[in-house]
Amino acid sequence: MPKRTKIVATLGPATADLEVLKDMVRAGLDVVRLNLSHGSHDSHATMLELVRRAASEVGRCIGVMVDLQGPKIRVERFRDGVVELQRGAPFSLDAALDSDAGDATQVGISYKNLPSDVTPGDILLLNDGLIRLKVERVAGTRIDTRVEIGGRVSDRKGLNRLGGGLSLGALTEKDRADIQFAAKAGADYLAVSFPRQASDIDEARALLREAGGQGGVVAKIERAEALEELDAIMAASDAVMVARGDLAVEIGDAQLAGVQKELLRRARLRDCVVITATQMMQSMVHSPSPTRAEVLDVANAVLDGTDAVMLSEETAIGAHPAKVIEAMSRICEGTERYQHFSRSSGEARDYAYIDEAIAKASIDTANRLKVKAIAAFTESGATAMWMSRIGTEVPIYAFTRHPVTERKVSLYRGVYPVAYEPAAREVVNHEVAEKLRSMGVVEEGDLIIITKGDIAGMRGGTNTLKIVRVGDTQ
Ligand code: PGA
Ligand code: MN
Repeated sequence: MPKRTKIVATLGPATADLEVLKDMVRAGLDVVRLNLSHGSHDSHATMLELVRRAASEVGRCIGVMVDLQGPKIRVERFRDGVVELQRGAPFSLDAALDSDAGDATQVGISYKNLPSDVTPGDILLLNDGLIRLKVERVAGTRIDTRVEIGGRVSDRKGLNRLGGGLSLGALTEKDRADIQFAAKAGADYLAVSFPRQASDIDEARALLREAGGQGGVVAKIERAEALEELDAIMAASDAVMVARGDLAVEIGDAQLAGVQKELLRRARLRDCVVITATQMMQSMVHSPSPTRAEVLDVANAVLDGTDAVMLSEETAIGAHPAKVIEAMSRICEGTERYQHFSRSSGEARDYAYIDEAIAKASIDTANRLKVKAIAAFTESGATAMWMSRIGTEVPIYAFTRHPVTERKVSLYRGVYPVAYEPAAREVVNHEVAEKLRSMGVVEEGDLIIITKGDIAGMRGGTNTLKIVRVGDTQ
């Protein structure tokens, strides 16, 4: 059986080649991420074309996630492109300074309201937290700081505040244009950067739907404030991403492990899909094999129940884009073998929907009866999603006639899409059994659980849990 944990890989210059992409797909890639902080719509569209070719040539279904840049607050540019900040030196951020006039004493800022959002004593972090500035004074358009940890800063580096709380709406003008692109490109997922509350996700979803997009919406958890709104954000989202790059800068690295574990636990409980992201295999940007610490980082996310693990620079600009996926797949698969699930779902909660009850009862049954595979007929993918919220070693095959659903479920832990046009009711059990047999998943005598609805093709219509023995169907 292939690995259950899914792999999301960011595209970039290192993946702009059909053969490389085919190797990535063969190595276990499930979903590609287009990072709209870089590149143009044209360059992303070209890359997407290549991905689709690679997927169809290898014969696998690959999901597409379009990741918005979001309202990241950035410093403007320096006269020389880069400066070296010295510890203890004064350094000012000035909203009135020309955008290219920065030097070692001051720099412009793109977000003009920043001075009213900070107060003396605040810690500002530049360049993913590598540089630390302490706010001493705010005067008009200027924020005067003292450099606590120095280093090199180049043009347009990101700015965060320790503890979070810098305001800026969730969707920028660029994001709005990028949502149009996502819809046109047929994105299966739209990732929203720096959301603060559920309404940020609702707004992105409304814009995506208006533009004709059918994809799911992913909330990147990378702001301290989002943690306080977590339940509402999870309810509004199809998936959340533990966006450890920015998140660690905002909450401090000492909090990261605890917060990641809580996010993974809560996501499963709240029927939300979850992706663990950033620097999971960072050394493989250059090195052909991961460090032991990286192996353990991926393994721990797998053991804690992540749906997917994500690669950023490792594939986008890395020296070994296919090798890193191969290594990650190997770690996922090896780790999954050590993970055994309790027979009962342990869920104390009441169910809200009939199809949810059927989905969860199937896993409960599969974990107690020697079931070889589950076949879930699904329109939107919801049945498969509910199933995958409960730990199981039994593979879940999502039978669907919608290609978008096939690609959507490719993000869910333990769920494998199967393209399927529903057959006549009398032969459907037989057809499912034969399909799974032809895929090498089951053999004569194995038990299969099939879930479906009385009326085929009705969204939310699943109301039947059937247990059949391969060979007994006709
Ligand atoms: P990014 O998001 O790669 O778009 O910054 C992920 C993260 O912050 O971890
Ligand atoms: Mn980020």
